[in-house]
Amino acid sequence: MIRFSVMTLFPEMIEAGVNVSILARAAANHLLDIRAVNIRDYTDNKHGRVDDYTYGGGAGMLMQAQPIYDCYQALVNEQPADRVIYLTPQGRTFDQEMACELAGEKHVVFLCGHYEGVDERVLEAIVTDYVSIGDYVLTGGELPAMVMIDAISRHIPGVLHNEDSTDAESFSDGLLEYPQYTRPEEWMGKKVPEILLSGDHAKVDVWRHNESLKRTKSRRPDLYDAYISLHPEETFQ
Ligand code: SAM
Repeated sequence: MIRFSVMTLFPEMIEAGVNVSILARAAANHLLDIRAVNIRDYTDNKHGRVDDYTYGGGAGMLMQAQPIYDCYQALVNEQPADRVIYLTPQGRTFDQEMACELAGEKHVVFLCGHYEGVDERVLEAIVTDYVSIGDYVLTGGELPAMVMIDAISRHIPGVLHNEDSTDAESFSDGLLEYPQYTRPEEWMGKKVPEILLSGDHAKVDVWRHNESLKRTKSRRPDLYDAYISLHPEETFQ
């Protein structure tokens, strides 16, 4: 079972996000163990303070090192951490490959910053990976932690009902997924492509692959170019 420990000032945000749907079912089936831990519970400050002004001036408050470090120590005393991830816009951009790789770990700890961020010294002391979910700035690391937990969990055997579910998905082979349809066969005058009703699985596979190429070329030319450089014989016209 993989454990995700989230160090945060707002554990209720994490709990609200992960205690539903597929993740809740996976936790109930003991495939995942997700813990949101309140950093404030570890502060030495008698007023419960966890942040302070930045040295050198500048707007905003910074999260202090001591409560984070003590929170981290409590977590790793229970179970050593394989990875300690600080969610930050300054990190490497999260992607499907990283999600798949992290699914092989036993204990992944996330540190969610807030306000202006976190005192650099505690980051140097505990962090193994700096990860961003995209080139924009959010108010806190809680949403990025949830994004990562969700994407990682989908790669853990048994979490998705159908083990094949991640195989044909976008990014699994470097392409976006083909368009999909369900009942009815005709909706607002639009018909499901004939080939999907044919029962000819080989032809359906060819059609889907072509649609993947077409879609990737128009929506994500960067991915398309990378794919074609590896498979030059497959150029889509
Ligand atoms: N002052 C910081 C900077 O310029 O890099 C930004 C701080 S941001 C307002 C507060 C917290 O939100 C960060 O410490 C980080 O944990 C989280 N955060 C914001 N944007 C993020 C992103 N794109 N990816 C991951 N975490 C992010």
